[in-house]
Amino acid sequence: MTKETIFSKIIRREIPADVLYQDNLVTAFRDINPKAPSHILIVTNMLIPTVNDLTADHEAALGRLFTVAAKIAQQEGIDEDGYRLIVNCNRHGGQEVYHLHMHLLGGRPLGPLVA
Ligand code: 5GP
Repeated sequence: MTKETIFSKIIRREIPADVLYQDNLVTAFRDINPKAPSHILIVTNMLIPTVNDLTADHEAALGRLFTVAAKIAQQEGIDEDGYRLIVNCNRHGGQEVYHLHMHLLGGRPLGPLVA
């Protein structure tokens, strides 16, 4: 059973968010609790709870997550120094919002992958 999260309301522009990009497949907005100078979430417009729920039908949206991440990294001016893309899955992955999303983090050295 898929249950809507706050991200569906952001995608539909029903609640405020700093939206940087939106098209027919994905929406990108700044994280409300940034862990780096640039911390942007790129979410699929379609409600897919976790990576475990993916099928081949989602591949266009998944590809778009990466191309939009690269475009926003350039706009943020962090592409040359570099950045990190993270997708958390379920409890051990630290997932809090069960609507598939990619974190784009950059603007400072990010340190080791897992603390
Ligand atoms: P997760 O742990 O699920 O990978 O990441 C969820 C992220 O969503 C967190 O970094 C959290 O700060 C962010 N977040 C949760 N609620 C909101 C919200 O209402 N607005 C925005 N912009 N970000 C949110």
